[in-house]
Amino acid sequence: MSSWNMEDERAILDSIDVWVEKEVRPIAKRFDHADEYPHDLVEQMKALGLFGATISQDYGGLGLSAGTYAKIVIRVASAWMAPTGIFNSHLIMATAIERFGTDKQKNEYLPRMARGEFRGGIGLTEPNAGTDLQAIRTQAQRDGDHYVVNGAKTWITNSGQGDGLLLLVKTDPQAQPRHKGMSLFIAEKAEGFIVAKKMEKLGYKAIDTCELTFDNYRVPAENLLGGEEGKGFAQIAGGLELGRINVAARGCGIAQGALELALRYAQERSTFGKPICEHQAIQLKLAEMATQVAAAKLLIEQAAIKYDAGERCDLEAAMAKYFGSEAGVFCANEAMRIFGGYSYSTEYEIERYYRDAMLMCIGEGTNEVLRTIIAKQLIARNPA
Ligand SMILES: Cc1cc2nc3c(=O)[nH]c(=O)nc-3n(C[C@H](O)[C@H](O)[C@H](O)COP(=O)(O)OP(=O)(O)OC[C@H]3O[C@@H](n4cnc5c(N)ncnc54)[C@H](O)[C@@H]3O)c2cc1C
Repeated sequence: MSSWNMEDERAILDSIDVWVEKEVRPIAKRFDHADEYPHDLVEQMKALGLFGATISQDYGGLGLSAGTYAKIVIRVASAWMAPTGIFNSHLIMATAIERFGTDKQKNEYLPRMARGEFRGGIGLTEPNAGTDLQAIRTQAQRDGDHYVVNGAKTWITNSGQGDGLLLLVKTDPQAQPRHKGMSLFIAEKAEGFIVAKKMEKLGYKAIDTCELTFDNYRVPAENLLGGEEGKGFAQIAGGLELGRINVAARGCGIAQGALELALRYAQERSTFGKPICEHQAIQLKLAEMATQVAAAKLLIEQAAIKYDAGERCDLEAAMAKYFGSEAGVFCANEAMRIFGGYSYSTEYEIERYYRDAMLMCIGEGTNEVLRTIIAKQLIARNPA
């Protein structure tokens, strides 16, 4: 249950603004270039309650609405997108546990997750299966009061520095349809849960995204999410709505940050005797960027209102994620042009926005697939 009002929201967002300007923005360039994990930021996130942002107050979280949470994410991502990944997939895991977990699972994990003592992520993607998740090969076989997991995962954020994952596996590889053989486990790190390699990335630096191997990893049967096999695919689909609102907010934050940088630079840089912001070609870019940022915020709000009301919001979340992430790419690209040659200098911040933006079009469902979800929902909601 949440007990926040508008004034509380304002106070929370103000404290995030202060933190972003004091702690996040000043270190972004250095940690991004060094690809170094920001341990101090993690401790600060714990103190701010970010690891429990959307976990209900019953379990020690802040119990924020998706709308307030999205505003937090936009603010952080406008300075540096990568740290939002530290609490985003952690909160998707927490959301799935809160929605689908047994009472024991909720009581055991959610308070620790809210405090940031147990930091998680989501382990879905495999070398052969990203969009087509039903093609995963990692298997969990029952053995007494445990399951034995074998297989591999790739591109798993928070898996190096975190304590465990919500792990998608096949408990019945022969099941038809395939999703009926899929289950989720709360998988704590233990023997056989092997972090094989930290991946080298174009952007989204400083945050650990890893390849994992599961070699006879034993997970207690009581960690099967909800206690029933075959529900994993539906459970993860439910959790992704919040994830998509979050990615929309990350894309929107990148767009807003790129706009802010470009707006300032366009007033400082002069050519032909006047600031470049007075050239119409630059004005058209700034106007288009600002309009996309504003539109992305409205789409995020529309999705968040439905999510917070407990209504189905796959269409709205998909629209917000699609538009917000494309706005991030568009604004980062346009800002690069406005910065001219200096955009290519690693002395400036804008190149980071350019490198970080594209990921938002890929994660939590690629924008190609999201548009098919939007279309299918349109047709389903508007039968001829
Ligand atoms: C930095 C980073 C962090 C990540 N973090 C995580 C994480 O924490 N946990 C996790 O589980 N995964 C994570 N991922 C993986 C990410 O979710 C997948 O990369 C994504 O789902 C796409 O899967 P894929 O890469 O296998 O692409 P594919 O599924 O192989 O898709 C390739 C192309 O085909 C298109 N395509 C595929 N199927 C269709 C279709 N039916 N219709 C139309 N077009 C289609 C796609 O849009 C894309 O353009 C991360 C990825 C990156 C890059």
